[in-house]
Amino acid sequence: MNHEIKPENLAKALIAGNAMITVQSNRTGVHKTYHIYRVNDTYLRVKYGAKHGKILGNIRYVDVDPIFFSSRSDEETRAFEWLFRNQFNIKKLSEQVKLYHDGSCLRCGRRLTTPESIESGYGPKCIKHV
Ligand SMILES: [Zn+2]
Repeated sequence: MNHEIKPENLAKALIAGNAMITVQSNRTGVHKTYHIYRVNDTYLRVKYGAKHGKILGNIRYVDVDPIFFSSRSDEETRAFEWLFRNQFNIKKLSEQVKLYHDGSCLRCGRRLTTPESIESGYGPKCIKHV
């Protein structure tokens, strides 16, 4: 089951560590799901689809500005690049897409059980770290 992520919370969700994020176009209704998970202190990996989906690229995140790297140019990757590029553009995100998480913690991936956790997208321990 999908639960909405507010546009202003997307940037944190992208680097939280174990995020399954679905992006749905307001215009076409087409949706795409990405799994963005931490590989080590420096990198997160971006996969398309469910947990065993294809790798689209990596996010380098050390200090302040995360950077998305990819050698792909397919539709899924371009859609993710759009999302990544506009992650701080709340107005544009609000106008063009709806964002969802799948009911698991965006940071650790555990199933969320309380209404507060489902609303925020994080479990009670993880929310202290985001
Ligand atoms: Zn968690």
